[in-house]
Amino acid sequence: MTLPTELLINELQTFGVRLADPRAGVESRRGGAGPSDHKALTIDGMTVMAPVHTAPAFDSPYVIEAPDARGRSRILKNGAALAEATFPMRPRFYDLTTENGVPYSKIATLHGRDVLATTVLQTCIRYQSRTKTCQFCAIGQSLAAGRTIERKTPAQLAEVAKAAVALDGVKHMVMTTGTPRGGDRGAAILCESAAAVKEAVDLPIQAQCEPPDDDAWFARMSEAGVDSLGMHLEAVTPEVRRRVMPGKAEVPIERYLAAFASAVPVFGRGQVSTYILAGLGDTRDEILAMCETLVAIGVYPFVVPLVPISGTPLESTPVPSSAFMHSLLEPLANMLREHGLKATDIKAGCGKCGACSALSTYERALLS
Ligand code: SF4
Repeated sequence: MTLPTELLINELQTFGVRLADPRAGVESRRGGAGPSDHKALTIDGMTVMAPVHTAPAFDSPYVIEAPDARGRSRILKNGAALAEATFPMRPRFYDLTTENGVPYSKIATLHGRDVLATTVLQTCIRYQSRTKTCQFCAIGQSLAAGRTIERKTPAQLAEVAKAAVALDGVKHMVMTTGTPRGGDRGAAILCESAAAVKEAVDLPIQAQCEPPDDDAWFARMSEAGVDSLGMHLEAVTPEVRRRVMPGKAEVPIERYLAAFASAVPVFGRGQVSTYILAGLGDTRDEILAMCETLVAIGVYPFVVPLVPISGTPLESTPVPSSAFMHSLLEPLANMLREHGLKATDIKAGCGKCGACSALSTYERALLS
């Protein structure tokens, strides 16, 4: 490979890629909570989500050729071969349906290579009005398109998780949720969902929600079977939060920091994480300063380049440059090492999966 893997992955995630054969690998997801419009690829042992359906991806200098007979595809930049990639296979659990006819793929999906991901509640109080919605989020798109169902019951999640472990060897599960009405912010439905999955199958689970109004929910989630917790800041300065996520910004950063400090003793250092989207307007120094605060209290900051999803208010926002991401991820990987936090030590969730950012590849490069 002519480019170190972490730099190549960083470039693929910021430029996006053009696929010579769009049918290769697992079908890419459009819309939904969290990352979307991506395709999963494995490069040098790291599985990454590379944008394929976004406006920048259509003009990307990177092209991935159709897989050869061994399932390998060359990655070309401006026509020159740089590396090889493989595509994770379509999971077998996608062929199953529940007794009452709901396809398993509408209940949970495969993320990266070995992560089962679900949005337990596909509606959100923040998504109801244009003035409150998080501008990067597409939680309502996949529901409107009929690709998912609004509420996944604990029994459905347990059934799908059991099958995904047995048929496809998934290693951990991410349960996120739109924010419902009520002060628990979704913690209650995450508890009942985690308990049902744990009853059915031994699978590490990360739950993701906004900070609940009562920190007692952290112990309840842990007792229900949640192994790690994500509470996602997305943006790190009050100005950017107000502009990009006016509803969620009603929960101040101070509340997030207090919730992190309460949750870390329950789940353990490095088992609580937050998602930070680079490219929303926070500067490099603002993001790194917040990361310093977070790692000092034992929170893993998963810094991810913004992918402007088609159909969202941010669809025309420029993606962060690969140089900007490099200027963040290299010092962040060093910071994590100094504080003894590692993606590979996380029991479940986005930080462990790592496919939406080159961060864990930067961490790996420090070890080599
Ligand atoms: S990092 Fe999180 S959101 Fe991204 S593919 Fe992995 S599990 Fe899904």
